[in-house]
Amino acid sequence: MAKFIDDNRIKQLADDHGTPLYIYDKGRMLDDLNALKDALYPGASLYYAMKANPLLGICEVFRQNGTGVEVASAGELCVALKAGFAPKNIIFTSPGKTEEEIRYAIENGIKIINIDSIREASIVDKLAKETDSVVDVAIRINPSSCRSNAKIKMTGIPSQFGVEEEDLNERFFESLKTFDNISFKGIQIYMGTQMLDPEDIIWNTTYAMELGIRLSKKYGFKLKYLNCGGGFGVRYFKNEQPLDMRALADGMRELHERMKDELEDTEVIFESGRFLMAPAGVMVTKVLYRKESKGQRFLICDGGSNIHSSSAFLGRFVRNNFPLHAIAKNRSGEDTETTICGPLCTSLDVVGQKVALDAGVKEDDLIVIEQSGAYGYTYSPGKFLSHETPAEILADEDSYHILRQRGSVSDLLYGQQGL
Ligand SMILES: *Cc1c(COP(=O)(O)O)cnc(C)c1O
Repeated sequence: MAKFIDDNRIKQLADDHGTPLYIYDKGRMLDDLNALKDALYPGASLYYAMKANPLLGICEVFRQNGTGVEVASAGELCVALKAGFAPKNIIFTSPGKTEEEIRYAIENGIKIINIDSIREASIVDKLAKETDSVVDVAIRINPSSCRSNAKIKMTGIPSQFGVEEEDLNERFFESLKTFDNISFKGIQIYMGTQMLDPEDIIWNTTYAMELGIRLSKKYGFKLKYLNCGGGFGVRYFKNEQPLDMRALADGMRELHERMKDELEDTEVIFESGRFLMAPAGVMVTKVLYRKESKGQRFLICDGGSNIHSSSAFLGRFVRNNFPLHAIAKNRSGEDTETTICGPLCTSLDVVGQKVALDAGVKEDDLIVIEQSGAYGYTYSPGKFLSHETPAEILADEDSYHILRQRGSVSDLLYGQQGL
């Protein structure tokens, strides 16, 4: 297993701060950040896709270590500013930006707004006019082809994101030019998440670069900004191979040799959430009860899908278990098939389905769900059944920071009014 703080520390933090609990490991975050930086297209910049884990303290770690940040809402923008990101290192991408959100982004002078349509361009233009500013924008493109799992989809994929590549014509670019208060800088393409084959990533990056260059020549604009997306994957399941960073780096360097002249004046950007955060976080949940039901062994724990829905298969196509292990006082040395559940009154609240777990695991032992630093708590229906929110802690060598305190039961009343 790759480096993460050891089980003694996990146990100590769980004893001191209670469960369920999220723990992030700063050392692991930095290892993965450096590994990704080293494998990217030479000279490119890296933006942290904040939706993967929007904690203030996590954003601060990335800011201190030189990434930009991609936000997808006014709330995320607020946190990014609080985390100290300079506006010139913030980009805003979302298919449904409200006028309030766009205005907030303009007032703060962020680097670029990635727009999804001419209609959105006209709204940005109108709002920019109100403040007498000129706002940098890029268009997000839904490409006509993309590649994942070594398969090229020639038709692309229907999606609510971006402008269709087929719709990028003379008329489109002429309309963009009619807006005096936006300045068109380039394009963004994000072809999908959890890619584990370096060749897929290189293929998609090449596609984005060639498309950007072709459009800029054909329609006569300067390509100042080229956001190639990312989708760098991590290993969740036994049948998956981790992303080969050396192959990725080799592919990127070759691409650089081919493209560097044409892209001399272009800022190349990649984005990542999952790769940077998933391996750096665990969710720790405590066994409350054991039971047998019709020959099946169940463990009921204090945290489940309410704080970690993706481990419970919600919103996932693949019904495999996340990697997990137990921290147990007494091991029997023999595994037995076990189903690990959270505390919710729904049969969907299963974070480990029929996993091989030591038969000695019992009440007060801990279950540690790995690869949980991205799309964990933030992606979960935490309000369902009204449990307190978990504490979230950043382990940093021998010290730690509490990034979010455990909630209390009365938090649920916040903002509510009775009759
Ligand atoms: C979600 C998202 C990302 C981050 O994707 P990961 O697979 O987590 O790295 C990057 N860019 C855009 C536009 C996104 O929507």
